[in-house]
Amino acid sequence: MSKSLQAIRGMNDILPEQTPLWRYFESTVARLLDNYGYRQIRMPIVEFTELFKRSIGEVTDIVEKEMYTFDDRNGDSLTLRPEGTAACVRAVLEHGITGGGQVQKLWYVGPMFRHERPQKGRYRQFHQIGLEVFNLEGPDIDAELIVMTWRLWGELGLRDAVKLELNSLGTSESRGRYREALVEFLSAHLDKLDEDSQRRLKTNPLRVLDTKNAETQAVLVDAPKMADYLDDESRAHFEGLKARLDAVGIPYVINPKLVRGLDYYSKTVFEWVTDKLGAQGTVCAGGRYDGLVEQMGGKPTPGVGFAMGIERLVLMLEALDKVPEELSRQVDVYLCAFGEAAELAALSLSERIRDQLPNLRLQINAGAGSFKSQFKKADKSGALYALILGDDEMAQQVVGFKPLRGQGEQQSIAWDALAAHLATCVVQG
Ligand code: ATP
Ligand code: MG
Repeated sequence: MSKSLQAIRGMNDILPEQTPLWRYFESTVARLLDNYGYRQIRMPIVEFTELFKRSIGEVTDIVEKEMYTFDDRNGDSLTLRPEGTAACVRAVLEHGITGGGQVQKLWYVGPMFRHERPQKGRYRQFHQIGLEVFNLEGPDIDAELIVMTWRLWGELGLRDAVKLELNSLGTSESRGRYREALVEFLSAHLDKLDEDSQRRLKTNPLRVLDTKNAETQAVLVDAPKMADYLDDESRAHFEGLKARLDAVGIPYVINPKLVRGLDYYSKTVFEWVTDKLGAQGTVCAGGRYDGLVEQMGGKPTPGVGFAMGIERLVLMLEALDKVPEELSRQVDVYLCAFGEAAELAALSLSERIRDQLPNLRLQINAGAGSFKSQFKKADKSGALYALILGDDEMAQQVVGFKPLRGQGEQQSIAWDALAAHLATCVVQG
């Protein structure tokens, strides 16, 4: 096939077989967020390139090598968003909805774009559900974010398959002091560091901590620890968070090497990781970014947020066989009509039923094919019941009501009684 007729590498179609699971995941999260008092915000997927450079940081993987950047027809440099926080902060500043200290608890969902090497769980267009909270500075809100995701894993049946990793990066002052100590230590072992780490040592030394290189990792064993450099405020914040997680009974491990790829984090950082997806193990990641809003031109405004990767969570639900049974059935009732008069009656009858049962999933197959072929389709649709409307039924103003999943014999139901009958036998969500 010619290349222009194929999707771009790393950008996937999500086919009709897959969308029920996506919708299940997204609606489960949306309901949870509603219940905790978060409100949805929708940002554009394109922003000025400068926004991402300023917020994410020039010396990060995303800005250095992963952004889809182009000049538009006005000559402005634009970028397909690689993540949601920058645009969300831009939006709250632009609309002045945090500047007076107002608390905002916001969430968003949508595609993100990063030019990475496509592989299982890593794509160039992928999807996140993320949230950001502004103007709450205590550890209680960090805890709420984590507690909420813990509840989500519970609802999805994933609790046993994920692990929470936590760290504190401290305030920017304490991180500055730590950075100095780390640079001094690493500089003394320069020859043992991999090339990437040598470069990062100059540009973004904390990132050396999350190297995948075994030799560099060996050097890091004796490196200074961030925990020893935390100021009192950051330490108290971190203890406050841990106490809350303990109170709810959420297990966690402290990972001193967890620094996250973006520059803007301070104090709490966390990741939910799994060993069920191979190398792409982080399914949800976030942290606090108390300096970001100010850095972007706003008043000092504490912030904290996270984002989860929908593809990875969908893959996990599949891998662990946690796809709810009912998703395989997208039709409740399948109406087969035979003959011209029956087809017309089927349409008006089905509309009457929809009036009375707005949640019923009813599919009509009118006029298409023999009795046998219509039945085959009804069965294949996964419907629980077939309704049959032929000459005999027309004459008596009834439908044949045929259970398709072994729930009893076929019976005749009068048109007027049909909606009430369906209401008793189809469980509606
Ligand atoms: P990774 O270390 O896997 O590259 P990241 O630190 O770059 O992740 P974040 O920027 O924190 O990721 O994004 C939050 C979440 O979005 C990740 O935990 C992951 O679930 C998902 N994610 C990030 N990049 C991709 C991608 N290229 N494809 C699919 N999902 C992704
Ligand atoms: Mg990444």
